[in-house]
Amino acid sequence: MDHPELQSRPPSPLVEAVDERFAAHGVRLLLKRDDLVHPELPGNKWRKLAPNLRAALEAGHDRLVTFGGAYSNHLRATAAAGRLLGLGTIGIVRGDELAGRPLNDSLARCAADGMRLHFVSRSRYRAKADPQAQALLLDEAGASGAYVVPEGGSNALALSGCAELGRELHGVTDVAAVACGTGGTLAGLAAGLAPGQRALGVPVLAGGFLPAEIRSLQAEAYGGPAGDWSLAEDFHHGGYARVPAALESFAADFASRHGLPVERIYVAKLLWALTALTRSDAFPPGTTVTAIITGRP
Ligand SMILES: *Cc1c(COP(=O)(O)O)cnc(C)c1O
Repeated sequence: MDHPELQSRPPSPLVEAVDERFAAHGVRLLLKRDDLVHPELPGNKWRKLAPNLRAALEAGHDRLVTFGGAYSNHLRATAAAGRLLGLGTIGIVRGDELAGRPLNDSLARCAADGMRLHFVSRSRYRAKADPQAQALLLDEAGASGAYVVPEGGSNALALSGCAELGRELHGVTDVAAVACGTGGTLAGLAAGLAPGQRALGVPVLAGGFLPAEIRSLQAEAYGGPAGDWSLAEDFHHGGYARVPAALESFAADFASRHGLPVERIYVAKLLWALTALTRSDAFPPGTTVTAIITGRP
């Protein structure tokens, strides 16, 4: 029996956004309000965590361990999930310089949800890609034997949860667009769409490492490529968590036009990208584009 928190939820709302910047180019814009899919675990974090939480409970685990930066939405969602399910949580946090300082709001929320925080240097954090280094790190964090959720929550199980998001969009859109961090959401979304539909990812980090990452996640989950996807790589605005003034005012304006709380690190960059691509006629007239609202501020 599924834990009540893990039972499947109704599809998140899909609403039309009437916006002359799109209408003028014959493009219809829909908003998939995945930020409303779960009251405490918004959007893609719920989609990615739920199958992992089921697996952890089925295997009899009573603790989860995961990894993230000081402002990680994924760490916060994992801490909240642990509280809801009565599982212990351990967060391995990038940056040992943070250890002696007061916690920022995001980490304070993790701690309030019962997450034990373990700070490590950037180099040791990076080295966790090596299984042996990771095992040492888990041991040192007192997390040996805990269920390991990878950084950003992206693994094969997470993709299966995000594929469900794609299935909820069958028959209603030509393009399903999403902001990308690790690319896990895009990888699963693309696999869940129907033939003829395509997924478009907007990376919020600079660096161009995502295509390989997405291919590797799909190979792990499906044994090879799945679905039609591509990336629009020029909309990171300088890198992760950079919100230049022009993006800030775009986001504030979009929020007031459409009554949408616009999360700045991911969702604002997605909406900016779709507005710019539409302006440059990247979508043929008659195209329906759905922006996936993966989180809230
Ligand atoms: C984590 C997050 C993403 C990125 O998801 P990935 O699967 O890592 O690409 C996008 N939007 C929001 C709001 C997030 O919190």
